[in-house]
Amino acid sequence: MFPNIKKINRALEKLDPDRIYVENMRYLLGTSNRIAKLVCDIAVRKGYFKKFYALECKNKHCGRIIGSWENISEIPQKVSCITCEENGENETYFLTRELNIIPFYKYIKKSYKLA
Ligand SMILES: [Zn+2]
Repeated sequence: MFPNIKKINRALEKLDPDRIYVENMRYLLGTSNRIAKLVCDIAVRKGYFKKFYALECKNKHCGRIIGSWENISEIPQKVSCITCEENGENETYFLTRELNIIPFYKYIKKSYKLA
C-alpha cells in the first residue's frame, strides 16, 4: 500500500534533506524497499526531490562517500578518496567500476504533495 502524505511528510521531517536514502525512507515509512523507492521517484518526477549518485570508498575502515554526481555519465572513471589520502592509506585511488554507487535524493521543495 502506498503511504499517505501525512506519513511521508512526517518521515521527511526526520530525514537529512540533503541526503535521503531509500533505506532511510523505507525504515521511516515502515514499508517495502520497492514502495520507498517509488515514493522517492515520484517526488523526483514532481520536482520535490533531485536524484544523485554517490560513490562509496571501498577501503574497509573508510567506507565514506567519495563524491556525488547528478548523472551517472558524469562520474569519472577513476576517483580518489580524500579521507584515505589524509589517513595515509596505501590505496586511495580507485576505479569507479570497482566501487558501490549509491543513489540518494535531495529534498528541494518544502512539501511533498502528490496532487
Ligand atoms: Zn576512503
